Amino acid sequence: MHETSIALSILSLVEEKFNNTPGAVRVTKIRVLVGSLSLVDPVALKFALEVASKGTPMEGSEIEIEFVEPVFKCRKCGHTWRLTRDELGRIAEDKALAQVLHYYPDLITEHLKCPKCGSRDIDIVEGGGVILESVEIETRYGK
Ligand SMILES: [Zn+2]
Repeated sequence: MHETSIALSILSLVEEKFNNTPGAVRVTKIRVLVGSLSLVDPVALKFALEVASKGTPMEGSEIEIEFVEPVFKCRKCGHTWRLTRDELGRIAEDKALAQVLHYYPDLITEHLKCPKCGSRDIDIVEGGGVILESVEIETRYGK
């Protein structure tokens, strides 16, 4: 399950932050942004994080997961736009493509065209992969 490897990479970032915080006692809360393009299952991700954090300073911390809709930018004309839920739904219906995007969300750009100029040279501005947005750590000196 892909969510497990995502959880492990998030956890290692959290531990790095914890180890770099003087007087750190435990992690109280983390916030993760999930690009809806990656089609990551938030329930599975949360569960994977809970399992992976057992025995670490993150055990028992609050886990907040938020979805981010993807935003694209055309490299040719500079137009930016969001993918609608319908379009995203259509992509997710193509099982083979959905599987690819789950691992490599950036590859969606190969299946899109700029709605303004028709260029296929497109960047994902946000909402691609999974991002650890914030970590709250309790320290010996208070929060
Ligand atoms: Zn364009």
